Order: sequence, then structure tokens, then C-alpha cells
Amino acid sequence: NEELLRKAEKLSVIGELAAGIAHEIRNPLTSLKGFIQLLYPTLQDNKLYADIMLSELERINLIVSELLILSKPQNLQIKPISLVVLMQNLLALLASEANLKNIRFQTSFGKCPPIAGEENQLKQVFINIIKNSIEAIASQGQGEIRISTRLLPNRHVLVRLADNGCGVPEELLSKLGEPFFTTKEKGTGLGLMISNKIIKDHNGTFQITSKKNQGTVVKITLPIVDDDIGSS
Ligand code: ADP
Ligand code: MG
Repeated sequence: NEELLRKAEKLSVIGELAAGIAHEIRNPLTSLKGFIQLLYPTLQDNKLYADIMLSELERINLIVSELLILSKPQNLQIKPISLVVLMQNLLALLASEANLKNIRFQTSFGKCPPIAGEENQLKQVFINIIKNSIEAIASQGQGEIRISTRLLPNRHVLVRLADNGCGVPEELLSKLGEPFFTTKEKGTGLGLMISNKIIKDHNGTFQITSKKNQGTVVKITLPIVDDDIGSS
């Protein structure tokens, strides 16, 4: 299938640079971490510095891991995917964390034919977005995340994810999706940028709207696999 092939090519080209750099950084990182841990018992009064070095290394590691998501060349596989099944699996995965934080999931899955995509990358997109919602709600108590899917007349599937968390103040809206923009102490500011990129690579659209103290809505559309609805 020509379309599937084209998508696979695009994804691998975009991911190559980021993943290449990430791999190069990961190896020296591992040896730095190893040697700090090796020296640790000899440090006596200086253990505090070593602890800071280790936690900073952990942070670099987190950023590198996020960039690595952009490409996994060895197992990049474009295939028909049911977004409803994918979403149900993710929600099962995130349920216990959400439960602990008094967050409810509410779902409404309409007709949703398969789309062509790279499963790991699409999973990562929805994990990023739902995690943002969990964090936005947890920062101010309890709340809910509503997730729905439906088929649009233009043969795209729309996935809508809405939370009633802290929202984003208007003056910061334009910053969303900029690399490294974060309002969180431990954030990387890469989640939205990467999600947006992955969806664009799938020929989809990505939209986020938000109101401070009211909540945030993310809308993602992805084209359905042509073969699945017959000729046209
Ligand atoms: P990170 O989560 O590491 O901060 P993201 O790219 O995922 O990076 O998000 C960037 C910023 O966008 C967040 O720091 C937050 O300020 C804002 N944001 C994203 N999603 C939401 C949401 N659902 N509710 C409120 N703010 C959000
Ligand atoms: Mg995030």
C-alpha cells in the first residue's frame, strides 16, 4: 500500500536526527551515572553533590527518553489501528494512577474505522495528553477526563480529550507546543511538541484549546484507512 509506505518513510526521516542525538547522549550518560555511583561510598561529606549530579543526570535521561520516542527505526511499523482499542488499553493502563488521584474517565466511543499508524507513537501521543490532563486536575483536586471518538464526514476520525483541570492562562496559549515550554517543576516541555509532530506525520490535525480554571480540550483527527470503506 503506497500511502502506508509514504507515511513510514516520513516518520523515519523526522525521527532520525532526534533519535540519533538521543542515542549518542545516552551512552556517555550511562557511564557518568555508573562512575558517580562507584565513587559514592568514598565521598563522605560530599554526598550531597553526588546526589545532585545523579538527579540532574536523571533529568537529562528523561529528556533524552522523550526525544527517543520520535523514532524507533528498528521496529517502526505502520499498520491499521483501531483508536478505540488503543484508547481502551491505555485507559486500563492509566486507571490506577487516575483512581489514586480521584480522577474519573468518561468515555463515549462512536464509529471509528481503523486508521493507518505507528502504534507505539500514537500510544505515546495519547499518554502524553492524558498525563497532562491528570497533572492539570491533580494540581487542584479532583475532576474528570472525557474522551470521545467519532467519524467525521471528511473520513477522518476525531478523538476529543477534555479535562476540567487548571487550564492555561490566555497569555500562555501561544506557547503550547513550543519545545521546552513547561509550567511544571519537573516538566520537559516536550510532550505537546512531540505529540503534534507525530500527528502531523500521520497526516492528521492537532488542536488544543484551554481556559484558565476551566479546563483543556485536545482534538486530534486522523485519516481512516482508505481500503476500509470501499471504493470512492
Ligand atoms: P510538560 O508536561 O513536560 O510540561 P507538555 O509539552 O506536555 O510538557 O506541556 C507543556 C505545558 O502545557 C505544560 O507545562 C502546561 O503548562 C500546559 N498544558 C498542557 N496540557 C495541559 C492541560 N491538559 N491542562 C493544563 N495545562 C496544560
Ligand atoms: Mg506533558
